[in-house]
Amino acid sequence: DKPTYKWQRVLLKVSGEALAGDQSQNIDPKITMAIAREVASVAIVVGGGNIFRGSSWAGSSGLDRSSADYIGMLATVMNAIFLQATMESIGIPTRVQTAFRMSEVAEPYIRRRAVRHLEKGRVVIFAAGTGNPFFTTDTAAALRCAEINAEVVLKATNVDGVFDDDPRRNPNARLHDTLTYHEVTSKDLSVMDMTAITLCQENNIPVVVFNLNKPGNISKAIKGERVGTLIGG
Ligand code: UDP
Repeated sequence: DKPTYKWQRVLLKVSGEALAGDQSQNIDPKITMAIAREVASVAIVVGGGNIFRGSSWAGSSGLDRSSADYIGMLATVMNAIFLQATMESIGIPTRVQTAFRMSEVAEPYIRRRAVRHLEKGRVVIFAAGTGNPFFTTDTAAALRCAEINAEVVLKATNVDGVFDDDPRRNPNARLHDTLTYHEVTSKDLSVMDMTAITLCQENNIPVVVFNLNKPGNISKAIKGERVGTLIGG
């Protein structure tokens, strides 16, 4: 049997694409509810790609990259508030912290306060990425993970993990059980962008890529049971 890990603290990364499910809407409430039911006292970094991705808009209509990225960061705040509302609807105490101030809707990011929330058993959702344009929420996940001394980034996606080929096109694509950081970067596997994976490597933060659409998978990943692909040293 595969080994289990005893994570004390984890950082769950939920991309915007994962939140969208197969709905035509930006967010599928079934997915946010599935997440809400499976988490307990974890830190979450939420993406925004289901609503707005800066890099795909920059350049068009004269939009500069920084402006586009700030819109993208605002999109993550929408997802965070949606997720928070879903969690609180089933009684899970949740705090949203934003990387830039939006104090009417969420707390500002304060590292020690975030840790305190986790110690009290609350879910903390980090929104607005790193607060800086030219970064991604994957990098925010790696950064916040390191800052709050979490031991692993759990990257929830719509596929079972990292494959050696695109599983949607090649039915014989093989799922990697484990990968090294070097394999990810040298083979240019689309797991995370280079900044994010390098930050994980430099801080010895393993990354688990797994499918959030399989019931029970999120709680398994949080508990340290082996799901998906484990990337590490
Ligand atoms: N973004 C940014 N800085 C950050 C995090 C995100 O500028 O630190 C912007 C960027 O435009 C990005 C968008 O927010 O395209 C949404 O985030 P991301 O693409 O990482 O979301 P995901 O792919 O996880 O849904």
